Amino acid sequence: MENYIEIEKLKNALILCSNSFDDNVRITIAKQGLCLDKFVHDKNPFVRRAVVENGYQLDLFLYDEDMMVRKAIAKQGYGANILIYDKEYKVRKAVAKYCKLYNDQITILAKDPAPEVRAEIAKRGEKLTLLSKDPNELVRVEVAKHGYRLKYLLDDPSPLVRAAIASKGYCLEILLNDKSEIVRKNAKLYAYNHADAKSEWVLERNNFRCLNCNFKLDRTKTPSKRCPKCNFVMCNFIEIASKKKKIKVNWLLFFVIS
Ligand SMILES: [Zn+2]
Repeated sequence: MENYIEIEKLKNALILCSNSFDDNVRITIAKQGLCLDKFVHDKNPFVRRAVVENGYQLDLFLYDEDMMVRKAIAKQGYGANILIYDKEYKVRKAVAKYCKLYNDQITILAKDPAPEVRAEIAKRGEKLTLLSKDPNELVRVEVAKHGYRLKYLLDDPSPLVRAAIASKGYCLEILLNDKSEIVRKNAKLYAYNHADAKSEWVLERNNFRCLNCNFKLDRTKTPSKRCPKCNFVMCNFIEIASKKKKIKVNWLLFFVIS
């Protein structure tokens, strides 16, 4: 009996609080998932957002006047069929990021006027052929991150796109010599992080040459086990005796000889 009275007291206190003029009080209660039916029509958007975040009556908020409330619905993975046409790109971006989409919806978002939305579609790995030709570099970066159409994107004018290709370890021999510093940095970083990436010393007339990055080392010096430029592990030493014939010598053997 005593417990029952205590609960009734608490309920009454909660109802009093939910009528509070203090927005923060109502937000706090709504965040707890309490009194949600009462807060559905609250004048404060943060209160309504808290209702949405509890997954309560989402349909009621699809046309809410406040953008962040509609965005919160998309974040729940709900309402794509309506929110895909929302006037605010941040809402459409949330749709592209969080909602399950049909193919025709993906097509619509891949042609969205906002690059932020198209980039989200690329992040999903969708419509990559179309988006590899996107006018915005940030969209093309996302395509490159998927390792898609790297050969095509290798000539991209944006260093950010080429840097993304370098991070994939693609065509490092070209990107290690890129005119942009960030591209060269990423190429080198990839080589460092993939210590098992292998290259070979090629012995030429006056120097050793790294087969991966073309770094040249005076042949009077002892070639290191890693290339000083691309840091690839040098697994073999090749002497080009003639143009037709390559002689491969095992590393250990090479050190014994030299
Ligand atoms: Zn090298």
